[in-house]
Formats: sequence, structure tokens, C-alpha cells
Amino acid sequence: MGDLHSEQSAISRKDFLRGSAVAGLGAVGLGILAACSPGSGKDAEGGAAPQGSSGANIAWDKEVDVLVVGSGTAAYAALVAKGNGAENVLVIEKSVIWGGTSGTSGGTLWIPLSYTGQAVGMNDTREEALAYMKLCAADRGNIKAMEAYIDNGNALLEWTRDTFGWEWGSGTPGAGFKDYYEPYQGYRSHGRQVDFAGGGAQEWLTLQEELTGLGVEIMLETPATALVQDETGAVIGVEAQSSGKAFNIKASTCVVLGTGGFDHNPEMVAAFQSIPIYVSNAVQTNTGDGHAMGQAIGAQLANMDTNWGLPSFIDVFDPAAPAVYNMMWPDWGIYRSGAGSIIVNKQGRRFANESSAYAVFNRAFGNYDTGTLAYLNTPAVFICDSKYAVSGLPGGAKVNEDLPSILFKADSLAQIAEHFGIDAAALEDEVATFNASAEQGFDPAFHRGEKEVDRAIGAYHPYATELANPVLAPVATAPFYAALYVPGTCGTNGGLRTNEFAQVLTTKDEVIPHLYAVGNCTASISGGQYCGAGMTVGAGAVMSYIGVRKALGLS
Ligand SMILES: Cc1cc2nc3c(=O)[nH]c(=O)nc-3n(C[C@H](O)[C@H](O)[C@H](O)COP(=O)(O)OP(=O)(O)OC[C@H]3O[C@@H](n4cnc5c(N)ncnc54)[C@H](O)[C@@H]3O)c2cc1C
Repeated sequence: MGDLHSEQSAISRKDFLRGSAVAGLGAVGLGILAACSPGSGKDAEGGAAPQGSSGANIAWDKEVDVLVVGSGTAAYAALVAKGNGAENVLVIEKSVIWGGTSGTSGGTLWIPLSYTGQAVGMNDTREEALAYMKLCAADRGNIKAMEAYIDNGNALLEWTRDTFGWEWGSGTPGAGFKDYYEPYQGYRSHGRQVDFAGGGAQEWLTLQEELTGLGVEIMLETPATALVQDETGAVIGVEAQSSGKAFNIKASTCVVLGTGGFDHNPEMVAAFQSIPIYVSNAVQTNTGDGHAMGQAIGAQLANMDTNWGLPSFIDVFDPAAPAVYNMMWPDWGIYRSGAGSIIVNKQGRRFANESSAYAVFNRAFGNYDTGTLAYLNTPAVFICDSKYAVSGLPGGAKVNEDLPSILFKADSLAQIAEHFGIDAAALEDEVATFNASAEQGFDPAFHRGEKEVDRAIGAYHPYATELANPVLAPVATAPFYAALYVPGTCGTNGGLRTNEFAQVLTTKDEVIPHLYAVGNCTASISGGQYCGAGMTVGAGAVMSYIGVRKALGLS
């Protein structure tokens, strides 16, 4: 994957920040236009007026109807386009690998009112789903887009089933992940999590095969570098790079941006994220290219401070280091949440319900200490005991094998305190207090294990069924294992602001004609919050469906 890291877009990180600063002063600057779009600079007022390249000056290397930029969730846009009659559909992908983060994911879609969920008794309603999403978003989401999402998610599932024979399924009550914000109004314990038969990797393989079979062209190692507008402001194509050379692609119907988040653009992370990101499992080609291309033509950005939170182990804590790409360290919950483990801060104190969903727990890292003038809970430390360890250790380690670099083994809590610089007396006191109630199956401090969502994520332990509370057991038996625990993500989720049709909006809330955006390069419709498993792939796929149907005049 090291090669991918060096495979940067022709858009430099500095260009993006220059653009942000200029746009922040109220004008979309000529500097970024010059940097990103040759032949640009016609209008410095923002809005829908043309600011990218003038199409008249472009020598096109290829002409298509629908151009999709990025092969993650935007692959759905290509499928919907071709499946609904668009003649020439092209997907360009910056990486050598198809599928982006989506192709490495579980592929789950969070779909209210899914036929698969209703079939297993989810009993969902539009009103309940909307109420739940609004509560999760806490006034930051795009309500019209939420409504469109709820109204179209199941239609996408049924369309893939009926057109291509795809099989989807939802867990029955008691199985699978729950919605993450229990007990918000409209919460569902099952049914909104919809899985592709065979999982995420199979889903993206099937997408690729389906597209190829339909005659959709896929160009890997072809990063888009700028959007091209005509004299009316409509996007008519992109400038790209192919085999290291300029490659201009005209798109007569629309361009769909699906370039992912900006996890691996350290300057953007530092400039926009509200709490640091230390680890991300988003692919390394996600460097905010779509954000920069959109901003260069006056697109509005929103939600830039949020991400799909995913706590992670890390071997060395460097507050200034860029996000590390790692697939083994992120903790979806099975480690943090297992009985016989806790997470403490450097004061030796627990600070959250370890069994809460990953994106919920990640928010607890944001507590700032006015005494030390640093984040109180970052870095935190994961600690488990030897009874826990038999079921597996962080990083996929096993007790009898060599431990990975993230893990520290100790005979006592005192050794852990010394190794990680934790207040030793406070740690002993905290663990003693925790153990006394954990023995009885209670967690008076954070109510761990009281919600069904807690138990769904963490109750994997071999002896969980013997416990009064399946995710609570004392941390008592040496040897102990410990690791640094930090905020992370599986993707930033702020970006281009879109309307309920996935159309990109200007800073004046006007539609930029023919430009659509989906996935993590957009401002998440749920205000950056993870409503339940599949929220991120779900939103990318469903907004692809909605957007392309709009572009084709089908809605
Ligand atoms: C192990 C794992 C499991 C996960 N499981 C789930 C799950 O089950 N459900 C869920 O909802 N979420 C899940 N997630 C999170 C989810 O995968 C991501 O948030 C989501 O896939 C992001 O989709 P995207 O389309 O925005 O970005 P990506 O899928 O990363 O796609 C963006 C693509 O754009 C390409 N690109 C970037 N710049 C350019 C450019 N200039 N030109 C052309 N191409 C460009 C990138 O190379 C990349 O391929 C998981 C993540 C991981 C790592």
C-alpha cells in the first residue's frame, strides 16, 4: 500500500488550503483557479458563474454521457446510469485498485424500510426513521436529503434485486448490529442493516463485473484533477491524468464525484477536524481531491469537522503525526467492549461506556482538559486481563504468539501505569471500584451492557454467557495486556454540500448544473453521525441512485 500513498493527485495539498483561505475571505480566488483549472478565472464572485476551465479551449480525449469519478460508493452511480439507459458511462479511479475503501469494507447499507428488514419484523415507518435520523444528526443534517434517502433506499435494493438478481439480507432480532443511538425515538434493534450476500468485497467485485458486463468502461490510475465548466457554469467534463499525461473527458449528462474523504491529507485534517485523527482505514488515495475540485468552482463545503468515528489502537503516540493507515488496529468494538477490559485516560479513570458503538465512543475523546491544556482522554489506554486474553487480543494477536507492537504485557497494573505514564494510585482505585460492581454485572459509572446495542457489539467472549452482564467482568487476573487507544475514523464525512438530489451547491445555495457528488466527499446527510451500521456505504449508494436518476430525468 506504500505505493498508493505516494500516488498523490496532481492537486497539491497546499493548493487546497490556499483555496480555503481565499474562499473564506468571500471570493473564490484566482490563485486556486490557476492552480486547478487552466484557462480559468473568468469570475471571482462565487456562485454558479463559470470559474473552471472554459470548455471551448479544451481538446477532449474522450466523450461520454455519464462520468463517475471514484470507484467506491460512486460505483453505484455508474450502475444506475448504465442500468437506466445511459449509453456511454465511464468510471475513472485514481488508484491501481478498484473499489476504494468501500471495496475493503463490510459493504453493509443502512436502509430504513428495507424489504429485508420488514420481512424479519423490523416494523419500520417513514416517520420513525426520520425522527431517528434527525435526533442522530442533532440539527446538522440535511432533512430533505434524509427524507429522500428514506424514500429511495429500499427502491435501490429492490432495483438491484429485480434487475441483476442481487441478494440482500438483514439479521433477525438478536442477530447483527443494532442502530447505534439507543434509545432515540425511532431506534430499531434490527432490520436497517442490510448486507450483500457474500459481504463487502464480493459486493464490489460484483459491481465491477456487472459494470464491465454492461459495457461500462473503467480506467484505473486515472485521477481527475479539475472540473470543466461551460459558459453557463454547467460542468461539462473533467481534466484528468492518465499514464502521467493530461487526459480530458467530456460528459454530456453529468459528472458524479465520489472521491472519498480527506483522511490522508494532513493539512486538511488539521485545518478542519474538531478532534485529531490518528488512525484511518480509509484508502490512502483519499486526499480530498473532490473537495478541492468542487471548491475551485465555487462549491460550498459543510460538516468539515466530523468523521465516521472509529477508535483505534496505535503503537506510538505522536500528537503531530498524520493519520496512520492501518486495517488491523481500528477497534469496531470487539476489543474495547469485551468482558474483562476497560479503557482509561492518563488520570487512571474510565471516561465512557466501552461497549457503546465505535462512532459513539469516539466522541468521548473530544473532552479538553483545562488543567493540562490537552485532550483529557487522548491518548487513552486499553487494559485487559488474562481471562479476557484467551479469546484474542487487539491486532488479532493470540496469547501464545509474539505480541504485535501495539501490545504491552505486564504482571501488574502498576507496571502498566509506569509504562504508559498513568497515575498509578488512581488506576488501582478505578480498577478496584470497577471490579466490585462488574462482578455483580453492573457499571454504575457508565451503564455498560445495559443497552442491547452494547451487548450486540461486545458479547463475543467465550464466557460471556456465564456472566450476569455479558460485557462486564473484573479486570483482575494477571498477566494484563495494554495498548494505547486513540481517536480514529473509517472516513472523514464533511465536504461538498449537496441537495436532496445529490446535486452540488454553490456558496449561494445554487445548484451547479450537471455536477453530482456522493459519499465521503460530501457533507454527510446525517450531520456526520453514524445512525447505524451501513450509514456510510448506504448514504453513498442511495444518493448515487437518487442523483443519477435525477440527471437522467427519471425523477
Ligand atoms: C474494514 C472496513 C469496514 C467497513 N464496513 C462498512 C460497512 O459495512 N458499511 C458502511 O457503511 N461503512 C463501512 N466502512 C466505511 C466505508 O467503507 C467508507 O466510509 C465508505 O466506503 C466511503 O465511501 P466513498 O465512496 O466515499 O469512498 P471510497 O470507497 O474510499 O471511494 C473513493 C474512491 O475515490 C478515489 N479517488 C480519490 N481521488 C480521486 C480522483 N482525484 N480521481 C479519481 N478517483 C479518486 C479513491 O482512490 C477511492 O477509490 C468500513 C470501512 C472499512 C475500512
